[in-house]
Amino acid sequence: MKWWEKYRLRLEKNNWEKPTEVRDISYWRNRLYNNVILYILPLGLIAWIPGVIMSVVGGIPMLAVLDSLIVLFIAFIAFSPVPALRVRKVLLVVCIYLLCIGLMAFLGYFGPGRMYLVALSVFVTLIFPAPAGYWTVAINTFICLLFGIMIHFGIYPPAVVLDYTIGSWIAVSSNVIFLCTACVAALDLLIKGLQTTIDKEELLQKQLREESKVLEKMLVSVDAKNKELEQFAHIASHDLQEPLRTVSSLSSLLEKEYGEKLQGDGKTYLRYLAISTERMRALITGLLDYSRIGKEGKPEQADCNKIVKQVLMGIAVRINETGTHIIVDPLPMIYCFPVELAQLFQNLITNAIKFVKPDIIPEIRISAREEGKQWVFSVSDNGIGIEPRFYEKIFVIFQRLHPRSEYEGTGLGLAYCKKIVELHEGKIWVESEPGKGSAFYFSIPKPEKDEKA
Ligand code: ADP
Repeated sequence: MKWWEKYRLRLEKNNWEKPTEVRDISYWRNRLYNNVILYILPLGLIAWIPGVIMSVVGGIPMLAVLDSLIVLFIAFIAFSPVPALRVRKVLLVVCIYLLCIGLMAFLGYFGPGRMYLVALSVFVTLIFPAPAGYWTVAINTFICLLFGIMIHFGIYPPAVVLDYTIGSWIAVSSNVIFLCTACVAALDLLIKGLQTTIDKEELLQKQLREESKVLEKMLVSVDAKNKELEQFAHIASHDLQEPLRTVSSLSSLLEKEYGEKLQGDGKTYLRYLAISTERMRALITGLLDYSRIGKEGKPEQADCNKIVKQVLMGIAVRINETGTHIIVDPLPMIYCFPVELAQLFQNLITNAIKFVKPDIIPEIRISAREEGKQWVFSVSDNGIGIEPRFYEKIFVIFQRLHPRSEYEGTGLGLAYCKKIVELHEGKIWVESEPGKGSAFYFSIPKPEKDEKA
């Protein structure tokens, strides 16, 4: 219906202000007015055509003229681009009042005119802010009084006046005024309530927007600080390697050149120096590797069975030496950083081999299960276990629960694991029973395309 669309757009252009961002009550008032003006012309014909015919047949041609003039005037309000929206609204109300008075004058006080009085109170309350609705109650009362006076003094215009008595006028008028007041008061209350709700929502949205802005700023600064820290760790560990290499080569030179000449404590100190240098080298390399996680390589579809197999081959000597039993359940194909994932499995498996009581043969099980939109992997062992109070601490860099004399290590392994899992936007956690064993779990979310597959 192209013509309807054209008509609608034309009227909207004239009779509607640009919609505001917040759809408050004034937005809906304007929208209602716009819809009324949109439909009043086509629908008004339903009242106008029979009205005109009946007026002419019934010998009241003036009413037909008034009806037609009102329709023309409403068409003028709708199509003329000149008056402002508020003026248009007032003009429409004036038109309907004129029609209402005309109907009362020509068809009698009991005719359709009175219905228009109530309808006008409702309409004005809906399209204008308070107290406009109460103004219509005053105007309606005035009209009723005017007609009452005219009845009383016998100056009520046409022939229909014969049916009237002042008593019936009082009864009808008081009902009309009561209905108008009740409608205006109820609608006013409803609109006020709605406005309060909208205001509150707007306030909440404003607060939310402000809070999310603050949060966004904080996230940006946290991100920047993280990058700065990573860069610092990378540069520091990179730069520390050079003097360390010098210390290391000097201590081996010292050992080579003067080893024979040194005696007693001298030899022991030299050995400590070599051990400490070696340990520092391991720590610095570890830190450098830690800062590099996720910097190289790209995620791709990889078979976890193959990854674990390669890891086990890489540590085969250790497995054989300790007599470790390893069960690997079928593992899935996942979208991941394969090199980093191998490192993750290796750290968990070597820890499971390492942290057992001396007389126990390590038993390890590697499994995976699908949990909605993610895969959850587990590496469980029969090792020494971990007390619940250390469940979080063990994933912090350089945190260890045992002296090196008991279990060798740098305290970097699980921090690596955490960073690798976070690189995949997953989580890592441990469940354990001290003395019986531990199970390390980590989740890897599936990407969209993985879900489709
Ligand atoms: P490292 O192995 O170099 O000590 P990790 O970061 O890998 O460092 O581990 C941190 C600590 O967590 C370990 O010192 C150990 O106390 C505890 N831990 C890690 N894995 C296990 C395990 N499988 N069983 C018991 N304790 C463990």
